[in-house]
Amino acid sequence: MTHLLRAVVDLLLPPVCEVCGHRLTYDERVICEACWAKVEPFNPPLCVRCGRPSNKKVCDTCREQPLLPRRVRAIGNYDGILKEAIHLLKYNHRLSVASRLAQYLADIVAEEPEFQAADYLVPVPLHPTRERERGYNQAYVIAYRLSLLTGIPVLNNVLRRTRYTKDQIDLPKELRKSNVWGAFRVTDADKIRDKTIILVDDVFTTGATLNACTQVLVEAGVHEVYGLACATPV
Ligand SMILES: [Zn+2]
Ligand SMILES: [Zn+2]
Repeated sequence: MTHLLRAVVDLLLPPVCEVCGHRLTYDERVICEACWAKVEPFNPPLCVRCGRPSNKKVCDTCREQPLLPRRVRAIGNYDGILKEAIHLLKYNHRLSVASRLAQYLADIVAEEPEFQAADYLVPVPLHPTRERERGYNQAYVIAYRLSLLTGIPVLNNVLRRTRYTKDQIDLPKELRKSNVWGAFRVTDADKIRDKTIILVDDVFTTGATLNACTQVLVEAGVHEVYGLACATPV
């Protein structure tokens, strides 16, 4: 849309924040700055495995059930504005939200030397049928924006989801592992052999999806796997 056209449309139909309903300024898209300011990124000390706040080096959850990626980090709790933002991106086609989420993820990458040294960002794939229905893979949109900020290239389509699975967030904890186990395969092992990869997803819950992806990546000869997500429930 041209600037003039946008100005006319804005005048007739003033865009409002889709979270709080207040008028957006010309520079704002979808969510206003006042809403974004309510994001509370996790503060250290964090568990060195799952990145959730923890006073122990490795939290109790990770001690019981270690994640397969060497380390996972998320922006913050899957609640409030982060949850709203992810929903707008995932279910309402508000792709511009991904730019702001990627900025928070870039801040995390800047804190983690091992992440900075990664060879590729690999978005967790959707099943092709779901991607067709939605029109895009939100994890790819986030990874692409993050790539622009960090310079780490995105490797899309190296992982494929071969089974149509339910959204992990909708399933009880005990079903999440069986839902995704064996649901992924590597399409081109030569591209990723001996490489360090950061898996990118919108939300991680128990880590079952990240684990299933890591399993096939390691089997294909990947050197190290890390994980990044926009949110995780705590
Ligand atoms: Zn707002
Ligand atoms: Zn942990």
